[in-house]
Amino acid sequence: MPELPEVETLRRALLPLAKNKILKEIKFFRKDIRFPIPTKDLREGLTGKPISDISRRGKYLLLHAPTGAMILHLGMSGRVVQHPSIQPVEKHTHAVFHFETGTFLHFIDPRRFGCILWTHKNEGHPLLDSLGMDPLDDTTTGKALKVMARKCKAPIKSFIMDSKRLTGVGNIYACESMFQGGLNPRRQAGKVTLREWENFMISLKAILNNSIASGGTTLRDFFTADNTPGYYAVNLSVYGKENQPCPICATPIVRALQTGRSTFYCKVCQKK
Ligand SMILES: [Zn+2]
Repeated sequence: MPELPEVETLRRALLPLAKNKILKEIKFFRKDIRFPIPTKDLREGLTGKPISDISRRGKYLLLHAPTGAMILHLGMSGRVVQHPSIQPVEKHTHAVFHFETGTFLHFIDPRRFGCILWTHKNEGHPLLDSLGMDPLDDTTTGKALKVMARKCKAPIKSFIMDSKRLTGVGNIYACESMFQGGLNPRRQAGKVTLREWENFMISLKAILNNSIASGGTTLRDFFTADNTPGYYAVNLSVYGKENQPCPICATPIVRALQTGRSTFYCKVCQKK
């Protein structure tokens, strides 16, 4: 599944292809993916106008045009690739964006959990309005999390994976950053100290940024030769390492279930 680093890399890869470029035509091959595609709004809002910028909120990409923005989400299996023409090359090609520069971007999503939506300028969108802080934003600091977690009785693991609070943190990144921050996943979020939140945010940002750095910065780097997305190797210390020695203290890593998902951690290094 594309995680935040893959989406951020896609954003960076799309910038030279789409920013300040004019869309000539959009072809849709379905009326819906996860949600109905607002084809009329997208055509009216995007064609013949330059894309002024591409931003990201969590795992959503926004391509900004003068009257609004297209919202893209890759879901479980989505990807955006460049092909030499507007002709779909796969059964699961749902849309093709044809730029005046001769670039064709194909949106492909076999499992159809992704989405292509439109938001009018200054109107917001229900999917975006409920999103919490983006972990890579400069304003998302340990202090900001400490304030948000005030009186929160939920375990820190649930807290950081709740997209209404912190958006785009998948299970791998949650487990690894709690390990690096020395935090027990069952700890009540409201009882984590400012110092601990600060250490945790430093770890989380570093893991995400390292993952982005390992992924390359162009679409060519992003996708492997057979055009499958290159999911990034994260240097894993605990995730998926049940019974293997902790890299710090050699105690076997344990796996626990929290809200139906596996949590991997070291009982010694993450005592608190
Ligand atoms: Zn340990």
